[in-house]
Amino acid sequence: MPEPQSVSASCATGHENLPGQGLLTPADPAPFEICGAGGTARALLTCDHASRAFPEALGRLGLAEAATWRHIAWDIGAAALSRALAGRLDAPLVLAGYSRLVVDCNRRLEDPSCFVTLADGDRVPGNEGLSESGRRARATACYEPYHKAIATQLQAFHHAGIVPALIAVHSFTPVMGGKARPWHVGVLWDKDGRIARPLLERLRSEAGIVVGDNEPYSGRHPSDYTVDRHAESAGLPHVCLEVRQDLLETPAGVARWTDILGRHLSVILADETLYRVYGTR
Ligand SMILES: [Zn+2]
Repeated sequence: MPEPQSVSASCATGHENLPGQGLLTPADPAPFEICGAGGTARALLTCDHASRAFPEALGRLGLAEAATWRHIAWDIGAAALSRALAGRLDAPLVLAGYSRLVVDCNRRLEDPSCFVTLADGDRVPGNEGLSESGRRARATACYEPYHKAIATQLQAFHHAGIVPALIAVHSFTPVMGGKARPWHVGVLWDKDGRIARPLLERLRSEAGIVVGDNEPYSGRHPSDYTVDRHAESAGLPHVCLEVRQDLLETPAGVARWTDILGRHLSVILADETLYRVYGTR
């Protein structure tokens, strides 16, 4: 079973200011963590579903602890993969600090699936009949600080005269709704394929890897919110990665996928022509 995420020496958490003081206390985890700030890469990594933590005041939303280890609460293996990949690429990484069941940082706040009451068939009692003020408290405490941290990191690149790339890291469950998913890795994208196209081509050249092009989810769907909000809207080069969770269950699995993705992304990110606003020369 994966270990809870820990904060390493090179990482900082966003706990200094607790804007949602009604929900979070100093004993709660921070709403985001930043690793590898000051790296040499011209890319920012994000991990929306890194955490299975809940604010103590929400009492795990009425779920048994065992349920919070399942994919419904977080992207199993994604935090470990994104940390290792950020290290490999020497890129900063922003990780969300709370479970997607508290508030899904990869959804618009207005999207009903931002606060799910049914997660892959399981009831989430603490989200049933959630009031508008309850939603707002979670958004203020957990969601906005994370997205603000991403915006601040991207702004630092802009201040340095760099048009940065955004790489969102996720993982997906091998079975969803009773259906097995054959892909090992998915590359999600919409109109701007500057990273996605060469990455798809390179991943397909690896023996024995089943590659999903906008599978198991589509980058054309509004559920790809972090990329839409921070990269696509600004014309930043971007890609959303999905790796199947059973491949990330062990440190060896994480290392293997860090190597595969890191190897190909390093080549793609070395292309000087990448760092332009989409559609400009
Ligand atoms: Zn995810």
